[in-house]
Amino acid sequence: MSALPAVVADTAPARLPARTIPVAAGDGIGPEIMDATLSILAAADPALRFHHITVGLKAYESGLPAGIGDDAWTALDEHGLILKGPVLTPTGEGYKSVNVTLRKTLGLYANLRPCVAYHPYVHTRHRSMDVVVIRENEEDTYAGIEHRQSEEVYQCLKLITRPGCERIVRYAFEYARAHGRRKITCMTKSNIMKLTDGLFQRVFEEIAREYEDIESDHMIIDIGAARMATRPTDFDVVVTANLYGDILSDIAAEVAGSIGLAGSANIGEHCAMFEAVHGSAPDIAGRDIANPTGLLLSAVMMLVHMGRSQPAASIHNALLRTLEDGLHTADIYRSSVSRHKLGTRDFAAAVIDRLGTTPQIMAPVYYPESAPALPVRPLASITRPRPAEKRLVGVDVFLNWDESGRNPAVLGQRLEAVAGPDFRLSLITNRGVKVYPAGNRHTLCTDHWRCRFPMTDADAGPGAIAALLVRLAEAGLDAVKTENLYEFNGVRAYSQAQGE
Ligand code: NAD
Repeated sequence: MSALPAVVADTAPARLPARTIPVAAGDGIGPEIMDATLSILAAADPALRFHHITVGLKAYESGLPAGIGDDAWTALDEHGLILKGPVLTPTGEGYKSVNVTLRKTLGLYANLRPCVAYHPYVHTRHRSMDVVVIRENEEDTYAGIEHRQSEEVYQCLKLITRPGCERIVRYAFEYARAHGRRKITCMTKSNIMKLTDGLFQRVFEEIAREYEDIESDHMIIDIGAARMATRPTDFDVVVTANLYGDILSDIAAEVAGSIGLAGSANIGEHCAMFEAVHGSAPDIAGRDIANPTGLLLSAVMMLVHMGRSQPAASIHNALLRTLEDGLHTADIYRSSVSRHKLGTRDFAAAVIDRLGTTPQIMAPVYYPESAPALPVRPLASITRPRPAEKRLVGVDVFLNWDESGRNPAVLGQRLEAVAGPDFRLSLITNRGVKVYPAGNRHTLCTDHWRCRFPMTDADAGPGAIAALLVRLAEAGLDAVKTENLYEFNGVRAYSQAQGE
């Protein structure tokens, strides 16, 4: 029934030490669902204290472009966790996403998103769906490194690192083992991005060999996402890179019943952040109709993380009982199964009324005292492979060139003339397609050309690249970017161009 082990319910009240939780209500529906969630937390765990911090629109409006107040950083430092409502990132230059800033600054590398069906109480086509998507949270295209390089071409850098892959994959296997999960599926696009996604898949397959008790497989993300939409019960735990995980977990949450039902945890070595999967839902803000379940289940994950298993189980079971009793918010209300359509506040009151009860039909949830806290492996303990022998073998120079009707043969001849003495021009591509020598006349050419210069003198070194750039500038050519070409232990470490 849940991402965590379901055994029997334990509703006995426990005396727990006082603990303060930094809380950011967020924007849109954030304050409404946060009020609802805190009222339930306070009823189930009276020793909790809530410290409200400034994150989101209020912070942006007070001139903080990252959307995070100094009080928030201080509280995070002191308490090591945060319960956060959804935040609206203002569109326009200069504003940074609060979520991305928090995840990256605090090193919250693992994003855990359980997506569970509540059949027959919440409409779903996949009654026994119970999937946990584990998304790498810091790397990939979310590094936020983007450039415009010419009139027509913009670039976003996709960064995948070995320690990053190793950490998230190991986290996924440890999580699966600790929570009695039997299978992990890795999803990548390694058939196209052979170096970056290829690394993610390779690390997954290496680490999978250490966990023989857990079944593992790999799927290409496009068919994987399609299967998540149509056959989610094929999956147990999915581990994937940042962008794919972002999209996949929204699909999984919707397929399970509603985006409003899914909670998430962002876990790092020193800090953790708990938030619903959904956004600030401005279309329904201020109307007391939002479903607080996603944030409430995030708070349950937070309590488990804090070792407060009893109130976590009590809230989770009361929530299941509320759903079973047909008390539903508008997003999941169906006249055939629902008894009452409740607003956000009344839904919270219904959950509070049911604290201490268990569901009658759905399996109750139990979090053991030694709850399998979300395991974290310190970065320092990650194995570093022996350094490889790295050899510079050439350079790709990207040119912004818009002359001579964009005829590649003209550009090729100009480059041949300046390539020597340390390089030769091996090819030119446009958007990755070879256009020189011997291109196809149908290939669309933009104003952005990748020109590959293998070194003819193996000992020329990086100074030769600087000299080549000077020759290009003297020839009136606009080099907007370079990428050095390396071999590691004699193996080519750059993608082969189509047609090369
Ligand atoms: P959204 O998730 O806010 O809303 C999508 C749809 O789902 C809307 O129709 C909304 O009404 C509905 N919905 C979402 N949560 C619901 C709930 N709890 N109960 C009932 N219905 C719910 O996505 P969006 O509209 O694309 O984004 C709105 C804003 O939220 C954007 O500014 C976006 O950047 C931000 N956002 C923030 C976070 C976050 O803070 N973690 C995550 C995603 C989006």
